[in-house]
Amino acid sequence: MRFVIIGNSAAGVAAVETLRRLGGFQHRITVVSDELTGAYSRCLLPDLVAGKSTEYSIRLRPAEFYRRLEVELLAGVAAVEVRPGEKRLVLQDGRELAYDRLLVVTGASPVLPAVPGVKAEEVFTLRTLRDARRLSALVPRVSGAVVVGGGLVGLKAAYALKQAGLAWVTVVVTSPRLLIRQLDERAAAMVERELLNAGIDFIYNARVKAFAAGPQGRLTGVELEDGRELPAGLAVVAKGVRPNSGLVEKAGGKVGQGIVVDGNMRTSLDDIYAAGDCIQVTDRLTGQKVNSALWTLAFEQGRYAAANMLGIARPYPAPLTRLNSARFGGVDVVSVGNLEGEEVLAQYDPLSRTYRRLVFDGERLAGFILAGKVDGAGVYTALVKSGRPAWAYRRQLLQGQVGSVSLGTLLEQGKKDLNRNCHINTAT
Ligand SMILES: Cc1cc2nc3c(=O)[nH]c(=O)nc-3n(C[C@H](O)[C@H](O)[C@H](O)COP(=O)(O)OP(=O)(O)OC[C@H]3O[C@@H](n4cnc5c(N)ncnc54)[C@H](O)[C@@H]3O)c2cc1C
Repeated sequence: MRFVIIGNSAAGVAAVETLRRLGGFQHRITVVSDELTGAYSRCLLPDLVAGKSTEYSIRLRPAEFYRRLEVELLAGVAAVEVRPGEKRLVLQDGRELAYDRLLVVTGASPVLPAVPGVKAEEVFTLRTLRDARRLSALVPRVSGAVVVGGGLVGLKAAYALKQAGLAWVTVVVTSPRLLIRQLDERAAAMVERELLNAGIDFIYNARVKAFAAGPQGRLTGVELEDGRELPAGLAVVAKGVRPNSGLVEKAGGKVGQGIVVDGNMRTSLDDIYAAGDCIQVTDRLTGQKVNSALWTLAFEQGRYAAANMLGIARPYPAPLTRLNSARFGGVDVVSVGNLEGEEVLAQYDPLSRTYRRLVFDGERLAGFILAGKVDGAGVYTALVKSGRPAWAYRRQLLQGQVGSVSLGTLLEQGKKDLNRNCHINTAT
């Protein structure tokens, strides 16, 4: 059987490993990637910009990975067309590849606002290694930056730019506060304080009107809709991502909030599977169809897709799609599941400088936020995932005494979750 995989990141690497682990070496595997390098951790790109990681240290697998697993890697070339009727794939350079089963793991691309100047060379997104390299090359030549977007990627980018040595970094946020989709007011204020201390400024309730250029066409600043003008030698736009579902859509496949897949990661096209940031999933807690845009989910889905491609039926359970964590200086934050519910308990512990918010729906923990110290986050996550009754443990959970939440199996599960998470990822 010939397997072709389009995309070489979290979902693609997980799929390759699973195909070999479960299917042995008798199958042929070809990976097509429009990036030039081997796979790397996107989550760690801010660390690269900050000068705290190297390209070597953020590699996902060693250089010999593809050779060892006997994978043909076609790097630096995009797949431009899928012909499901012929079971063929067309590459940008005109080559055609035949497949028996195709996996689409094309990820997502940053959304750019439709405002004048957004295409300027000094206006960046932070999604690829190429973005990070270009950004790092410009940093020593400018004094300040504007980051557009107060979500996790925007804040990580802002923090990284400050650490990289910029004199000023201003974050422009559309909402009245930071991390509006991940944190409540209290936790967001803790992150804000940490970032203010690091020398980052914030402008809330503001929208970008244009990226302004000087006579030589270089970025000089960012104009806001309210008339303010912020000087900037570079800008980073972090306004979310859009799934790369075009190949499947053009081939006639169903697309909603991403490529539509069934419980076995099959698209609506014969012998074509999809996983990762490019697909639509059903959130376990809300039942809503959403785009799946998390590293851990992409990795997990790549594994499920590969097993199913081998004919080993592995139904993919509806995932928790709200699962975020980051570290900003001395403040760790983890936020999982629902932010609101029937019963909300919240407490700040001044001794450990930790804020905990628990959201209960009946007996079950439907979500939580930890800010400050996040020890035991895996246990809270396991409780949310499992849906087991947790109300009886509310006091211990609120006080962070998870060791006394004597749910052995959950503890084990929690540890596993923590260990394999890119989302427990550092932005320091
Ligand atoms: C700065 C940053 C920080 C992040 N931090 C976190 C975090 O802390 N926690 C977390 O869970 N997630 C985080 N994420 C999100 C996480 O990186 C993604 O969820 C994950 O990378 C998705 O993996 P994927 O394999 O689905 O797709 P991607 O990583 O997007 O990879 C898809 C690959 O396919 C390639 N491709 C696309 N189209 C084609 C084509 N036509 N032909 C050939 N190749 C193609 C792309 O170039 C890319 O290499 C972060 C992302 C960024 C950018």
